[in-house]
Amino acid sequence: MSTHSISNSTPEYAKEELYRRFSRQGLRRQRLRRWMRGLSWILVVQLLSGAKRAMDVLLAISGLVILSPLFIVGLALMASRVIALERRPRVGRWCQTFDEYRFALPQNTWGRLLRLIRFHRLPTLFNILKGDMSLIGPRPVSPGTLSPRERAVRKRYDVRPGLVCLWWIRRRANIDYGTEIEADGEYVETQSVLGDLGIALRAIPAILYGEGVATAPDLVTILNIPIDNVTMAEAIEIIMNLLDSQHGHQICFVNADCANIAYRDEEYLRILRHADYVFADGIGLKLAGKLLGQEIKQNVNGTDLFPRLCESLSGTGKKVFLLGARPGVAERVRHWIAEHAPGVHVVGTQHGYFSPEEEASIIDRIADSGADLLLVALGAPRQDKWIHRHLDETGVKVAMGVGGLFDFYSGRIPRAPLWMREMGLEWLYRFIQEPKRMWKRYFVGNAIFLFRVIKERFINSRM
Ligand code: UDP
Repeated sequence: MSTHSISNSTPEYAKEELYRRFSRQGLRRQRLRRWMRGLSWILVVQLLSGAKRAMDVLLAISGLVILSPLFIVGLALMASRVIALERRPRVGRWCQTFDEYRFALPQNTWGRLLRLIRFHRLPTLFNILKGDMSLIGPRPVSPGTLSPRERAVRKRYDVRPGLVCLWWIRRRANIDYGTEIEADGEYVETQSVLGDLGIALRAIPAILYGEGVATAPDLVTILNIPIDNVTMAEAIEIIMNLLDSQHGHQICFVNADCANIAYRDEEYLRILRHADYVFADGIGLKLAGKLLGQEIKQNVNGTDLFPRLCESLSGTGKKVFLLGARPGVAERVRHWIAEHAPGVHVVGTQHGYFSPEEEASIIDRIADSGADLLLVALGAPRQDKWIHRHLDETGVKVAMGVGGLFDFYSGRIPRAPLWMREMGLEWLYRFIQEPKRMWKRYFVGNAIFLFRVIKERFINSRM
């Protein structure tokens, strides 16, 4: 080796010795720094999990005290053998198994009512006290269901399973577009004590929205409007297939406000009844489905669908035309698409404040652009009537009315934060933004809508 050939009195040797000493010191320093970093990370994690554990214990004890009358009822029901204490084997933190405690409720109306208020989960508070579970965390699963060998799954076993999880909240608000594993991963990566408190608060409306009802038919009729009961993924698949067809199709999104308009506007109702597809938009429709005993699978609104559709359109060569909203807004949505989904080909934009005289030339522009997909943001019912009237002339394969979508993606109007959407409160956010315009739509409109649905249920059940 070259070092052996250098005599230890030569300047080369001294230089190399110096270099070696420095690099040894450097290495040591580097190792020390890495070690310190590891230690401080452990400390932070310990502190955080210590705070989380303290909060769990505190809330579990408070829960046990506040809910003690319910526990006494539970004990009495157990003593009279109406209910029983159940132990379910579960996989916990670091894949350790434990028994989760629950009340086994009878399969009758009383049992269903008690389940509705989550009575069966009361004993789970003891699991939290014992340290098997947290208040918030991924859903506890039975052994063998979710293998930790899968990379994406592994993360969920880094934390204690929870009584309430992010996925459960999203499912109840009908916005569970991703997978449960993704929601778990998101929770583990972003968890904080404040975040947990937020999830605990969001669980309150989630309890009120209730569990899924038994049936989820493919078609649900709400106030005479036939709704295609699909998930977000199914809706995107439908649109992508329609884009490959030979003739034009109309897709409508219906929320509680649209249903109210259709109630008094016969032409709009007729259009909704004849549209190729109608998707259920918003928490109002979910509640209506629940009242009618027909579960609405997911909140398929244009705003949540849009980025996912862009992802599917990317690289397919399908052409998109954006029509509607204030001058300059559709153009800004084109920029959004260029930035977030550069593989999507936008062939034209046009604002929505045109005169009847300009209409023919706009239709010609859409037809000449060779667009496959036309998004129309003129507000309901105008957009849906416009599509119905001009679909064939435009030559597009799919046209859909998207309401305020351009305003959101152009940044003109900020969208409700995710935590509000998880609480089914997007409407409240819209109301705060434009109280003068929205108060009637939401406070009066939603109540009238639900009243009509209840009436429909009552009349149908008597027939
Ligand atoms: N709009 C339009 N032309 C009009 C009236 C409205 O382009 O003559 C646009 C308006 O700028 C907005 C969209 O239609 O971007 C729909 O707004 P709104 O919030 O009323 O829609 P919703 O989602 O409630 O149907």
